[in-house]
Amino acid sequence: MGSENPLAPNALGPTVCVGEILVEIVATTIGDGFRQAQPLVGPFPSGSPAIFIDQCGRMGGAAAIIGAVGNDDFGRVNIDRLERDGVDVSGVAHDPDYPTGSAFVRYRKDGSRDFVYNIATSAASRFGWTPNVASLVDRCGHLHVMGSALSMPSASMVIEQAARIIKARGGSLSLDPNLRKELRYDADTEARFSDLVRMSDVLLPSGAELERAAGVDGEDAAVGRLFEIGVREIVIKRGSEGASCFQSDGTRTHAGAFDVAEIDPTGAGDCFGGAYVACRRLGMPVNQALLYGCAAGARNVTVHGPMEGAGTLDELDEFIKTTRRLK
Ligand code: ATP
Ligand code: MG
Repeated sequence: MGSENPLAPNALGPTVCVGEILVEIVATTIGDGFRQAQPLVGPFPSGSPAIFIDQCGRMGGAAAIIGAVGNDDFGRVNIDRLERDGVDVSGVAHDPDYPTGSAFVRYRKDGSRDFVYNIATSAASRFGWTPNVASLVDRCGHLHVMGSALSMPSASMVIEQAARIIKARGGSLSLDPNLRKELRYDADTEARFSDLVRMSDVLLPSGAELERAAGVDGEDAAVGRLFEIGVREIVIKRGSEGASCFQSDGTRTHAGAFDVAEIDPTGAGDCFGGAYVACRRLGMPVNQALLYGCAAGARNVTVHGPMEGAGTLDELDEFIKTTRRLK
């Protein structure tokens, strides 16, 4: 038995995610960066918060997003996809002057990625607290924070306000640190990040993010420290080694990854998180939420495009039935 579910039930209102809505344009060849003309494919709907919430909606979790797009086809690509997958887009602003944000990505031989972003000077970071946002937040039951959004001052402000309101109405909060080497945090952002760690019911780190969130080295010590400061459930994403959940009563649950050929790793963590949070909010136990999270992450890496492999519950059931599981 684990401790009780720290996530507020789906019936309290949608899971809302705040932040960058982007298109992604992907180089079709492996190599270093963008200094020569080259073949590209896209636009794919993207942005960590958008990928997360799209997977959450596809799973049947109540879902909503706050962000902004421009008055252009890149914006429409995103809005169409999110609406199709059941995501409430009433909190998305339409910027008349700035284009939808974009990210160009190219994979290197060693699997690392080069990016060219246009986020800070695009519609993606130009949104704030509007009447539409306020009325959406008033009926949300859970806030999921992507650490990547904290480097945008407007998003940070909305996240802080939404966190306070949603927590006050009995809702819950999850945080995926999602630190990208290309996005440097200043001292203010670091401080906001620490505050959010303390407010989080569930943390979904990968790699070095666990130790960075805890400020302590070593997996066990970091997990222990995070429980001391009030986090109640910690889910560590381990790529092709699956995922593990630590609950504050000491219960540990590991789920092996699925055996897939990785075509495009972008969005695995976001899909994992969207599925995990949706499942927990729908009342599923940790082992079942981990199973769907791992299936969602693995299915998404088998196709090109950051959210093209996000699966419905039926698609994930089929994937689970037909895909070999690693230990
Ligand atoms: P991102 O790189 O998108 O930020 P992340 O580091 O947050 O992702 P990962 O651990 O890479 O998260 O992926 C999340 C989950 O997706 C993993 O726990 C695993 O279950 C599944 N997954 C990711 N990559 C693979 C893979 N190559 N094979 C099988 N499963 C995978
Ligand atoms: Mg990863």
